[in-house]
Amino acid sequence: MAALQHRTIKVQAIPGERFCYWVESWSDPLHPNRVDIVAHLGRSQCSCKSWQTRCWPIIRDKLPEFRFEQDGSSICRHVEAARLVFLRDLLHRLALEEHNPAEL
Ligand SMILES: [Zn+2]
Repeated sequence: MAALQHRTIKVQAIPGERFCYWVESWSDPLHPNRVDIVAHLGRSQCSCKSWQTRCWPIIRDKLPEFRFEQDGSSICRHVEAARLVFLRDLLHRLALEEHNPAEL
């Protein structure tokens, strides 16, 4: 199981669906999870079972933000992976804009 935790996970933007990604499953690579990083006012949503059973009740019941920020229980690792890809792409665009605004 440990080997599965460290393998590279594919994250792909879903064409035509802004802020949505297919994120490969750690346990079932043939069935990626759909992640919407702006759902629920930016708290995100994933189609995986972990998000539905562990994260959704926290978001639905509007539990205090400290739980969201500090224990990470309202995001699954697919949401975390999609957010990292979004941030990477955003930083890339910002860097281009900052250094080469004419090339945009
Ligand atoms: Zn998930």
